[in-house]
Amino acid sequence: MKITAYEVRPDEKDYLLAAAQQEQIEITLVQGPMTQDNIDRAEGADGITILGDTKMDAALIEETAKRRIRVVATRTIGYDHIDMNAAKSNGVHVCNGYYDPDGVAEYTVMLILMSLRNYKQALFRGNANDYSLGGLIGRELRNLTVGIIGTGKIGQKVAQNLQGFGCRILAYSRRQNADPALGIEYCSLEELYAKSDIISLHTPLSNQTRYMIDKKAIDQMKDGVILINCARGELMRVDDIIEGIETRKIGALGLDVIEHEEGIYHMDRRSDILANRNMAYLRQFPNVTMTQHIAFYTEEAVKSMAESGIVNVVKCLKKQDNPNLIC
Ligand code: NAD
Repeated sequence: MKITAYEVRPDEKDYLLAAAQQEQIEITLVQGPMTQDNIDRAEGADGITILGDTKMDAALIEETAKRRIRVVATRTIGYDHIDMNAAKSNGVHVCNGYYDPDGVAEYTVMLILMSLRNYKQALFRGNANDYSLGGLIGRELRNLTVGIIGTGKIGQKVAQNLQGFGCRILAYSRRQNADPALGIEYCSLEELYAKSDIISLHTPLSNQTRYMIDKKAIDQMKDGVILINCARGELMRVDDIIEGIETRKIGALGLDVIEHEEGIYHMDRRSDILANRNMAYLRQFPNVTMTQHIAFYTEEAVKSMAESGIVNVVKCLKKQDNPNLIC
């Protein structure tokens, strides 16, 4: 069997090679995302593995199918960068990656705490020898209500981690299957918006969830609400969250993801002119903490992601049971 791995970062290389050796796979490593220009690197491959910067649109899926590449295994958990209808109609199987939810869940809790304690301002002030207290007063989590939207693997882990802080946890999710021991109270989206001091997003990006956090949703939230997004940028309408910050309806934002981050995040773009005004404008607010889509980025997760890219292709080709087979 042959696999071509695209978007290979230096920190993944050894893990990919080890997994390929373990599964007795011939592997080709390619640095950048898969495009029409470098699809030839997958000539003769049975499957490919990609990350989120490969836009697997209908045209690329068709080219993949023409080359008899039967499996696309994304090493990411989200698979919104793959045109699933095109994959199904072209007979190309798609699998998503697997890794434990702990890294993203811990990162979410970190952004919650940073937002509550004005950590960005404290850090910036300290760096400038400004040790004043004005504006840095925080709130304690035990007195607050956290609303979790999407109680899958990551959302439940966030709830588990938050238990020790003593806060109330509300949740809205399509599947309401959280372990009762987590103390999650399921409610309607309207109730979650009305009662939560902090709202954290953990749903996949889909036609149902795209821009779910818009002006209409924000208007239903508490004044000074803290919004956390460690899922996908397009869950939020950026113009509306900017307005929420400007009008002080939103008290703080913790964003690990933002719309149109592809081609910017995970790269050194210091000397470039970036054409993403919203990203630059949001970044300058003292109460907006933004990071470059790194919630997933732990040694444990990177190792699992690399393995998933290989193992999922093999399982698919061998027609073995696979919970990560999407289509
Ligand atoms: P999961 O599939 O285990 O859970 C998703 C949950 O969302 C499920 O409970 C599902 O019922 C719920 N859901 C789906 N559609 C919904 C809707 N329309 N309304 C309400 N709830 C809905 O996924 P997960 O492993 O918990 O990951 C969640 C998302 O986090 C991923 O899809 C991915 O986009 C994102 N993610 C981001 C990072 C990062 O580094 N920032 C890393 C991993 C995952």
